[in-house]
Amino acid sequence: FHNELQELKGALRVFCRIRPMNKRERENHDTIAVEMLDPFTVALDKTATDRQVFAYDTIFPESSTQAEVFAECRSMVQSVIDGYNVTVFTYGQTGAGKTWTLYGSGSEPGISPRICEEIFNFVQRDSEKLDFSVKASMIELYCAELRDLLNKAKDHPKLEFKGYRQADGSVGQRLEGMTEVPVASSSDLAQVVSQGLGSRKVRATAMNADSSRSHFLLIITMEMTDKETGRSRTGKISIVDLAGSERLGKSGVSGEGQKEAIEINKSLTALGDVMMAFTQKAKVIPYRNSKLTQLMQDSLGGTAKTLMFVNISPSSSNVDESISSLKYASRARCI
Ligand code: ADP
Ligand code: MG
Repeated sequence: FHNELQELKGALRVFCRIRPMNKRERENHDTIAVEMLDPFTVALDKTATDRQVFAYDTIFPESSTQAEVFAECRSMVQSVIDGYNVTVFTYGQTGAGKTWTLYGSGSEPGISPRICEEIFNFVQRDSEKLDFSVKASMIELYCAELRDLLNKAKDHPKLEFKGYRQADGSVGQRLEGMTEVPVASSSDLAQVVSQGLGSRKVRATAMNADSSRSHFLLIITMEMTDKETGRSRTGKISIVDLAGSERLGKSGVSGEGQKEAIEINKSLTALGDVMMAFTQKAKVIPYRNSKLTQLMQDSLGGTAKTLMFVNISPSSSNVDESISSLKYASRARCI
């Protein structure tokens, strides 16, 4: 029944989350340019006479709590246990609330820590019937370079893709040499995740780059073995905090900053193209156009289930970036 319900909801769902105004926007006397018309429709006022309307599977207004947002994602954990590959990712300009939505704070945890806890609730629930093996990996993609955030060795080998045959016969991409840390409890998992997050931060400062300039993936793989029959299946969930989608062209960045901007733009465009290709049921899905889409290949399209968040600011000063994010999301969703 659960999976029928999922089928009805579709393999790709797009949620829009509007964050509250921040201090800078309030001090700036920005006006609110975003209005939620109903639970599925949002309107943005580009100017006094130009109103643009967008529809998604759910709109989360400023007042939404982390728990309310998670309630809409919770069923994904059952899908992983049923053997599906699941992706949750956040898209939007820097400061729009992507990391907040995925990670939140200690007192207001986001989707990722809640999923980690839910995974082990299920492990406990099904432990009489199934043996579970849970593993975590954390990967950062910065300027087309992949980094293994859980490999502590200083001179660890470069990560490379390797094709493999999936259960349904299609070819997936696996990262050869990627560290997979076995975890036995939700606190184990939380500790591994915080180690990876810390490693992302340290690198960001060392390179003088903001963490919003890289894509960041937490991949949790679950293997379930039936104690009676000995048969096993694998599912995984990828939680992807994408780099900021804003165009940096205007501010005249050069050198490293420009290279970053070009790479981010290229990878986000490739991701949009892939999502459009599978909503149009295209024969060839252009996964190979970027490392980001190769990295997400076996968790996008096919039998995978995808949840996309588009995060936006409510403010008039950000309305152009917000509209551009919503257009990207609509393009990914529309048939
Ligand atoms: P991004 O990851 O998209 O660059 P962040 O998630 O870091 O943006 O959010 C920017 C700031 O706004 C953070 O300080 C965060 O705590 C705050 N914030 C974002 N969304 C919300 C929200 N829904 N409620 C409260 N604070 C939020
Ligand atoms: Mg962020």
